[in-house]
Amino acid sequence: MADKRDYYEVLGVSKGASEDEIKKAYRKAAKANHPDLHPGDKEAEARFKEANEAYAVLSDPDKRAKYDQFGFAGVDPSFAAGAGAGGFEGFGDLGDIFGDIFGGFGGFGGFGGRQQSRTGPQRGESLRARLTLTFEEAVFGCKKDITIPRVEQCPDCKGTGCQSGTTPEVCPQCRGAGTVRTQQRTPFGVFQSSGPCPKCGGSGRIIHSPCSKCRGSGTIRTQKKLNVTIPAGIDDGETVSLRGQGNAGANGGPAGDLLVQVQVRPSQAFQREGTSIYVTAQMSFVQAALGAEIQVPTLDGDVTLNIPEGTQNGAVFRLRGKGVPSVRSGARGDQFVTVQLLTPKNLSHKQKELLQQFAEISGEKFNRKKRKF
Ligand SMILES: [Zn+2]
Ligand SMILES: [Zn+2]
Repeated sequence: MADKRDYYEVLGVSKGASEDEIKKAYRKAAKANHPDLHPGDKEAEARFKEANEAYAVLSDPDKRAKYDQFGFAGVDPSFAAGAGAGGFEGFGDLGDIFGDIFGGFGGFGGFGGRQQSRTGPQRGESLRARLTLTFEEAVFGCKKDITIPRVEQCPDCKGTGCQSGTTPEVCPQCRGAGTVRTQQRTPFGVFQSSGPCPKCGGSGRIIHSPCSKCRGSGTIRTQKKLNVTIPAGIDDGETVSLRGQGNAGANGGPAGDLLVQVQVRPSQAFQREGTSIYVTAQMSFVQAALGAEIQVPTLDGDVTLNIPEGTQNGAVFRLRGKGVPSVRSGARGDQFVTVQLLTPKNLSHKQKELLQQFAEISGEKFNRKKRKF
C-alpha cells in the first residue's frame, strides 16, 4: 500500500471537483500516460493504471462518497485490515498512509514528521459507538457517559504542526498550491498533467520545526469522555448523532460526527412496539363475569383499570397516553391491556358445591366426581 496515492491527487483535481472536471482530468491523465504512447515505459504504465483505478472510484457517486468518508478502506475491503480502533469504525491511519506515500518519494529530506496530504480543508472521520440502555432509560431518556478513542486537534500547536514560536514556510516550489503541473512532449503534441508537489508532499507548506507533542501532524489521539443525552422514546437499534464529536478535520476542515447506536434491554413487565406498550392482565372468570377493579402496571406506576361485567378472555383495553413518548413530538403512545382469564384450581369442597349449583342452574353438564372428603 505504500505506493498508493490519493485518487484526487492521481487525477490532479480538488476534492470538490465536479463529475465533468473528473472526467476531463482522467482523459488528460490517460492520454498523457497511455501505454501506446510510451512503449516499454513502466512508469507511464503504472500512472495509466493508477488513473484508471482513481477514475473507476471517483466517477461512481456511491464509491466516491465512501472513499471521501473512509479513504481506501471504503472502496477496497483488503485495505481495512488492521485499521481497527477497538470497536470503533473510524479510519485513523490516513496520516500513516500519506506518510508512507510521500516518505516513499525519497530525496526530499527535512520533512520533520508527517505531512498533510492535501491543501484543502478535509472533514474528519465519523466514529461509531454502542451504548446499552435499560428499558426505562430508553423510554424516559437519560444522560450517559461514554469514552471514545478519537483524533483531536493538537492543543500545543493548535493544529499547525509547528513548534511554538515557529511558522510553516510556504512551499517555494508550488507556492502553497500543493500541486505542480508538468508538461510532456509526445509525437501527438504537448500534454499537461498535474500531481502533488514533490517538495512539500502536497501540503503546500514546509515545517522546519515540527511540534514535539504531535510530531508535526497537528493532531493527537486521545480517550475522550463525553456525556451523551439520550432522547426519551429511543428504541433498540436507533442512533444518536453527535455533530462534530468525531475525529478532528485536517487543514481547518470540520470534525466528523459521533454516531451512538443504542441497544435496549427488554423489560420483564412491558412489551414495546414503537410508542405502544403491551401488558397482559390476569383475572378470574368470576371477576370477568361480574366486573372488577384491577391494578395494572404502567410506565408511570400501577393504575386501576375498571373491568366491566361480562368481559371475555382476550379482550383488550386501551390506556390512552400511557405508552412511550415519540422521539420527535414527545407525544405519548397508548398502553394496551389484554385480559387473560384464569381457571380456578385446587377448589375447596364449598367452592365446588357452589360451582356445581351454578352449572345446574345454567343447565351445563360437568363431571361429577366422588367426594374425596
Ligand atoms: Zn502539535
Ligand atoms: Zn510544494
